Amino acid sequence: MAANGEEQRQTVSLLGVNIDVVDTAGLCQKLVDFSAEESTRTVMYVNADCMLISQKNVKYRQTLNGADLIYADGVGVVHGVKLWGQTLPGRSTAADFMPDFCRTFAGKGLKLFFLGAAEGVAREAANKLQQDIPDLQIVGTHHGYFTPEENESVVAEINETKPDIVVVGFGAPRQEFWIEQNAEQLEAAVVWGVGGLFDFLSGRTKRGPQWLLDHGFEWLCRLFTEPRRLWRRYLVGNTKFVLILLRHRYFSKVSISS
Ligand code: UDP
Repeated sequence: MAANGEEQRQTVSLLGVNIDVVDTAGLCQKLVDFSAEESTRTVMYVNADCMLISQKNVKYRQTLNGADLIYADGVGVVHGVKLWGQTLPGRSTAADFMPDFCRTFAGKGLKLFFLGAAEGVAREAANKLQQDIPDLQIVGTHHGYFTPEENESVVAEINETKPDIVVVGFGAPRQEFWIEQNAEQLEAAVVWGVGGLFDFLSGRTKRGPQWLLDHGFEWLCRLFTEPRRLWRRYLVGNTKFVLILLRHRYFSKVSISS
């Protein structure tokens, strides 16, 4: 665990990625705090799949490390840092915490924009949240399948709605690159990557039984729901992640420390 120069920021480093030592309540508080600041802050997450991508894609690793906050979204990352005697408070998964976070955002009068997923999905997710939390201000939604030529008008559309937090769900590493490239043009206080969150919130993608989710088997549930798309990510990816961790920990001189 080390302070990385920023006031009160504590991180552990895993395979060259600096991950904030923050629990779910702390993450919510950080989002609220960032929302009150003048400059635009970026928030990203990592799981085993992200860590694997970051080993092959240096640019992605740099982008992650350039974020103002990175939290652990996967249990693999939480266990991974233990190999170096470090501790993360646990994983924070947006599909679990988003309704509670939105209650907090609503209470603070913070405005959200949902960007990402297939046409209509972010709107469905927003509608479901607003049914439960009527005060929640989701000031706009946009799908995540626009062309580079359309990017400028998407950014303009977001800025017109004046959100405090832009929630971006394109999956990794696309969303992180988009966040890095567009944060300056966005007038929001926070730009936050959330992966496939809108699919879950809208109900289009089902989550597994809670006891499996609670015991680190979210990946297995996702594999059952979308085997064709995800078998490589989870069966090959998870194995590779474990092997890379063990290689770095026990068989190489590469220093991965806090
Ligand atoms: N997506 C998008 N634009 C793209 C590619 C993907 O909006 O160009 C969306 C996709 O519809 C899905 C999400 O990004 O909602 C990716 O979900 P995935 O489960 O792959 O992300 P993860 O949470 O695992 O990082």
